[in-house]
Amino acid sequence: MKIYLASSNDHKKREMAELFPEHQIVTPKDEGIDFDPVENGETFYENSLIKARALWEIVHCPVFADDSGLCADALNGSPGIYTSRYAGPQFMKGKPDGSKIPQELQNEYLVKQVADAVKTDSTLTGKAHYVCAMVLYMGPDRLFVAQETMEGEIIPDIKMQKGSGGFGYDPIFFLPEKNCTAAELSPEQKNAISHRGKAARAIKKIAAEALSQMQ
Ligand code: IMP
Repeated sequence: MKIYLASSNDHKKREMAELFPEHQIVTPKDEGIDFDPVENGETFYENSLIKARALWEIVHCPVFADDSGLCADALNGSPGIYTSRYAGPQFMKGKPDGSKIPQELQNEYLVKQVADAVKTDSTLTGKAHYVCAMVLYMGPDRLFVAQETMEGEIIPDIKMQKGSGGFGYDPIFFLPEKNCTAAELSPEQKNAISHRGKAARAIKKIAAEALSQMQ
C-alpha cells in the first residue's frame, strides 16, 4: 500500500523504498503537492513529527517522516538539527536570509571548523554521529517513533574526502570500522548500518501489525 514520505529528498526516498520494498513510497513532489512546513522544533523528533503531521493533514493517509542531521562532538553536537542549513562557523544555524549554500561548501566548512576546534583543544576529537528520528504517522492518535544514530568521524582534511555514493555529508564522514567514508558504501551496505536504516527497521518491528494491515 501507498505510504507518503514527508520529504522532497530523492536520496531519502530511494533509501526508504529499499527499506520498505513491500510498500509504495510516494513523496509530495510525486503528486504535485506543495509541501514546505516550518521546521521549528527543538529536537530531531519534534521536527519529524511536525513534517509528518503537516503532510497527514493534507493526504489523510499513512505518512513516514524523518528528520536527520550530523552532530560533531568537537562542536558540542552542532550542526545537529540545523545540518541542512549549516553555512560555516558564522552561520551554524543557517544564513539569515534562509538561503542554503552548496553541499560541497558545507562539507568544506564543516571539516575545517572541526579541525580548527581539535587543533585548539587537545581533548577534542573528530568524532561525530548522524541522527535520524523517524515517525510513522497514521493519524493524530496513532503513531510510531524511533530515533537512531550512526557513529563515525569527520575527516581531518577536505582533501581526504572520498566516494560518490550516499548523499549530503557522506564523503566527509569516515567509518573507522569499515575503513571508508559513508559515500564509499553501496546503498545496501549503508542501509545496513545507517541511522536511517536502523530507525526504519525499528519502526518496522514496533509497527509490524499496523504495517501488515496496510498491505
Ligand atoms: P532534513 O532533510 O531536514 O532531515 O536534513 C537532513 C540534513 O542532514 C541534510 O543536510 C542532509 O544532507 C544531512 N543528512 C541526513 N542524513 C544524511 C545521510 O545519510 N548522509 C549524508 N547527509 C545526511
